[in-house]
Amino acid sequence: MNDVVIIGTGPAGLTAAIYAARANLKPVIYAGSMHGGQLTTTTEVENFPGFEHGIMGPKLMTDMTAQAERFGTKIIYETITKVDFSKRPFTLWADKKEFKAKSVIIATGATAKTLGLPGESELMGRGLSTCATCDGFFYRNKVVAVTGGGDSAMEEANYLSKLCQQVYLIHRRAEFRASKIMVDRVLNNPKIKIMTPWAVKKPIADKSGLTGLVIENVKDGKEQELKVDGLFMAIGHKPNSDIFLPWVDVDSHGYIKTTNHTATKTPGVFAAGDIADPVFKQAVTAAGLGCQAAIQAQRFLEEHEH
Ligand code: NAP
Repeated sequence: MNDVVIIGTGPAGLTAAIYAARANLKPVIYAGSMHGGQLTTTTEVENFPGFEHGIMGPKLMTDMTAQAERFGTKIIYETITKVDFSKRPFTLWADKKEFKAKSVIIATGATAKTLGLPGESELMGRGLSTCATCDGFFYRNKVVAVTGGGDSAMEEANYLSKLCQQVYLIHRRAEFRASKIMVDRVLNNPKIKIMTPWAVKKPIADKSGLTGLVIENVKDGKEQELKVDGLFMAIGHKPNSDIFLPWVDVDSHGYIKTTNHTATKTPGVFAAGDIADPVFKQAVTAAGLGCQAAIQAQRFLEEHEH
């Protein structure tokens, strides 16, 4: 029996662990298949407060892990595969191993979708990115492309246009699914060149990283090369919420709906970080939500122990 089980070791899960451990709740945190979360796939993080000269994403997550452990958090390097939140205490499974928890904080994050281009994983952080707010700064005065036709792609293209010399917005259809206001902003931005209906076929790279893209016109199948220093893939995120249904409500994209800060529809189950945040998706906002979830779990336990 555990007081608090936290699922996920990104900034939300680890911040929740730090707070829960310091409240003497002896949290147990399940690392899952990607210990440290999305930040472990980035290079330098320059927008997490407290690091004047930036910090490497993996180092930030190693330090956060050590900080959580220092106060007594138990980290288990296993993945939660099934849960039953129908009654308290809740039941969770890590493969065949079953255990109980009085409260649960879901911090399983969201995984950025990528195009699955040849050589993609080697070029992540060397020309390919899934986050303009995180990596845009490294492309100041350079030429970049954004791919996608939703609000994220519009937002990223606009954001990058303030830093970069030129932004290509490449989308596979002539219609955008983004809201009109976001599309209008892009259409009225002289630094953004719209390319539809085009699809990114493959990256062109040298030793230093991405130098261009092979793109294909979806209508006639013609290919051409486009010289760019960076490609931002803004084709959506997949929130890792599947195993928690039906004990949490999710929106049409799978993000967990919360009320009263981090509460889900099941009392005693809280959600923090990108799993419950379709809008900001930043390390610092995830950490803030993790803190809120831990304090709410603590209050929930106090109320229900009495
Ligand atoms: P989204 O709305 O699901 O859009 C994803 C886009 O990527 C679509 O245009 C889709 O093309 C394209 N795409 C998907 N897979 C692709 C592939 N394999 N190859 C090429 N293109 C592909 O995702 P999102 O833009 O991340 O938005 C998610 C949610 O967050 C939405 O509800 C959005 O409104 C919200 N959001 C809001 C704001 C804001 O209000 N400021 C900012 C960001 C996000 P098709 O259109 O052809 O399917």
